[in-house]
Amino acid sequence: MYKVLPKENLQSLFEGLRKIGDVYAPVKISGLSHDFRKVNSISEVDLEYTRTMIPPKKFFVKPRETLFEFDEEKLQYAEVQNGGGLNVILGMHACDINGLKVIDAAYINENPDKYYMQRRESTLIIGVSCTPDEYCFCRSMGADYAVDGFDLFLHEIGRGYFVRIGSEKGLRVIEENSSLFEDASKEDIEEFKENERRKAESFKLELDISGLQDMLDLAWDHPVWEETAEECFGCGTCNLVCPTCRCYDVADYVELDLKRGERLRRWDSCMLRKHGLVAGGLNFRPTRVERLRNRFNCKGSLVNGLLNCVGCGRCTLYCPAEIDFVKIMKRIRGEP
Ligand code: SF4
Ligand code: SF4
Repeated sequence: MYKVLPKENLQSLFEGLRKIGDVYAPVKISGLSHDFRKVNSISEVDLEYTRTMIPPKKFFVKPRETLFEFDEEKLQYAEVQNGGGLNVILGMHACDINGLKVIDAAYINENPDKYYMQRRESTLIIGVSCTPDEYCFCRSMGADYAVDGFDLFLHEIGRGYFVRIGSEKGLRVIEENSSLFEDASKEDIEEFKENERRKAESFKLELDISGLQDMLDLAWDHPVWEETAEECFGCGTCNLVCPTCRCYDVADYVELDLKRGERLRRWDSCMLRKHGLVAGGLNFRPTRVERLRNRFNCKGSLVNGLLNCVGCGRCTLYCPAEIDFVKIMKRIRGEP
């Protein structure tokens, strides 16, 4: 089912979404920087953003969260309620929606995580179309278009948004706000198709992913790892900004009386030295070369048929050492 939301009705739709729950959307926070934040007015939202530094995975895999608290004297153990009411994320790009599907494979299919699943179920996702910049290569990764993983998807057209409905939750939003939507005309459909065609042609960056996993296997001793490790600061930024990275660390914090405390789960990074440190002091990836090679191998691996990279460009753009993800993958392939 396809509908059209005329531009002048966006504000009313926003008010309708606020009745569902808290609305989070991309907000311009400085010159070129955007972040998903809670918004109270459509005027705060910038749907024409290119990317946020931190992907919206932060709403599902929290950067830091308490799993439970304990009190030995009171013999109490309490799980912290991490769920909550329905939230709306307005304005997710296709690459980030596809990134969440990679995280779903780990947090729902492999090891079901109740906190993650609660959040997935209680969040309405509204996607929005975008224009690629020089860092985007999501088309090469098959992540430039969201086939599923959203409730509604808004594609900008001249008179507003061509709307795709991706779930029953999305259909309910349309039904409850039916006066705001119109049926898509032939002209609207043609414009949507033309825009998609133009977007596909506008990508400046490409990566050939055929046989990438084998190419990485065959590049175990490639000099690119030593050379890049010389430049890498080992800061972990590339993991934190990645919409598919989901490694975490678990730590117990105990009060000085050793009676009360909490167990925390927080984002971790495979580029940090301590990531491979295990009990007994063994570090199974002690050098930066090994950590770097591991990260690229992880990104080029398939998880349930999905690659661990959606081509958002964040790791290249935000790397303080200007390490270029696509350039490295091209060297691995033997491309100039
Ligand atoms: S962001 Fe760049 S410098 Fe930092 S760990 Fe990643 S590759 Fe190394
Ligand atoms: S590896 Fe880099 S380009 Fe790929 S999804 Fe992660 S941050 Fe984006």
